[in-house]
Amino acid sequence: MRKSRIKYLIMEHLGIRLTTFCNLNCRKCADLLPYQKNCHYDYNLLMEDMDKILGVVDFIKEILLGGGEIFLYPHMNEMLLIMRNFRMIIK
Ligand code: SF4
Repeated sequence: MRKSRIKYLIMEHLGIRLTTFCNLNCRKCADLLPYQKNCHYDYNLLMEDMDKILGVVDFIKEILLGGGEIFLYPHMNEMLLIMRNFRMIIK
C-alpha cells in the first residue's frame, strides 16, 4: 500500500505595490514614479485580492511590500496587523 504524501502549494514571494506616492521624487527613479499619476492600492480591493490568493495557496513564504514610499500608504497599520495574524504568511 502506497503512503499518501501531503503536498503544499507554497508561494515563494508575493510583491505588493501599496502605493506609487513617494516624497523623495528622485530624478532617476527606476519606476518613473515622479512622472506618473500617483495612487494607493484600494484597501478593499487589496483585501479581496489577498483572500483570492490565500484561497489557492497553502503558504506564502515572503511578502514584499513596495512602493513608492510604503509609509505613505494610509492603511499600513491594518496591513501589517493582518499580515502578522495570517498563519499562512511566513515572513
Ligand atoms: S520610489 Fe525610490 S527611486 Fe523612486 S522616487 Fe521614491 S525613493 Fe526615489
